[in-house]
Amino acid sequence: MGGVGEPGGGPVRLGAPLPTFRWEQIRPHNLPGDKWLVIERRVYDISRWAQRHPGGSRLIGHHGAEDATDAFRAFHQDLSFVRKFLQPLLIGELAPEEPSQDGLQNAQLIEDFRGLRQAVEDMKLFEAKPAFFALLLGHILAMEAQSWCLQHDLGHISIFRKSRWNHVAQQFVMGQLKGFSAHWWNFRHFQHHAKPNIFHKDPDVTVAPVFLLGESSIEYGKKKRRYLPYNHQHLYFFLIGPPLLTLVNFEVENLAYMLVCMQWTDLLWAASFYARFLLSYMPFYGVPGAMLLFVAVRVLESHWFVWITQMNHIPKEIGHEKHRDWASSQLAATCNVEPSLFLDWFSGHLNFQIEHHLFPTMPRHNYRKVAPLVKALCAKHGLSYEVKPFLTALVDIIGSLKKSGNMWLEAYLHQ
Ligand SMILES: [Zn+2]
Repeated sequence: MGGVGEPGGGPVRLGAPLPTFRWEQIRPHNLPGDKWLVIERRVYDISRWAQRHPGGSRLIGHHGAEDATDAFRAFHQDLSFVRKFLQPLLIGELAPEEPSQDGLQNAQLIEDFRGLRQAVEDMKLFEAKPAFFALLLGHILAMEAQSWCLQHDLGHISIFRKSRWNHVAQQFVMGQLKGFSAHWWNFRHFQHHAKPNIFHKDPDVTVAPVFLLGESSIEYGKKKRRYLPYNHQHLYFFLIGPPLLTLVNFEVENLAYMLVCMQWTDLLWAASFYARFLLSYMPFYGVPGAMLLFVAVRVLESHWFVWITQMNHIPKEIGHEKHRDWASSQLAATCNVEPSLFLDWFSGHLNFQIEHHLFPTMPRHNYRKVAPLVKALCAKHGLSYEVKPFLTALVDIIGSLKKSGNMWLEAYLHQ
């Protein structure tokens, strides 16, 4: 047994018997720049090392002159790794007659708590399930997508009695949560609703010469236009369609729109999104890291946006103005995707695209109710009311791109 250590202690030599301390000798070492603590009956001088403590010097300092055994176990996952850092700080151990606790604490409670901790460790309750957190992350990302849906709803319908508040709410969701302009969205989206799948009227299908959809494929072929290998457009779609739409097209379009149309309020809202994003993430990842994260988030949301919004339109008739009545023109350009609780939520009810296009100002929670009535009208007039499974709808996007590409090639080579 080593003798009682001198106040002030000092690093112990390997192999030498450990000096021992009584609590009354330890207690004074709770000053700035002079801190000891006790872990598993061993005494450590953390005075200088506290500055290097990964959890911060304040946190470890809060346990100055205390028995920090339970705090040590509570905070550190890999105890054997952390003990390596403790070794050079060891200055002694508690004298054998000293209690493990540092004051008038309930020794039985401390012992029972340690027993409980051991039991839950044995039950492996500290082991995280990655799938749980992956699901949580997926949920958060899906909620991001929901802000697109919400601003879309706010653009169409009146949630507030005064339309002005409706618009302010849309500006907030679109500007502060997404970094885009509500006016730009409405300018573009209402044209899409007015004339879905009509060239030069619906901006969503006015995508030539990058992609050829519907009637444009034969026209380009006949005129021997070949700006891109359109017979491979279903392949390069994966490179420049879903990954880049919001990151490149929307960013450029938005900035141009806000400046040219002098939408200063929208510009301020969008700036507030970037300020929030950079202020939130720059302290953690620096400027390059925050920018990289921004690009990653945009690319991810862009995938959701393209697949969900195009599954209802791209595979349908696309061409020049036919001057049809409202119902026929909307039905020719839209199809539905089979409803389910998941898909209704995930797509923001855009799986009920037919109902949405016939009645754009109807709140989406009522689509299920109106759907049978719409179906009946279609049956009566021999109009196609197309509903398909989710995966088929996604695959059909690629199928129709491939079909248009082949039609272009055929016309290009032989007409
Ligand atoms: Zn809409």
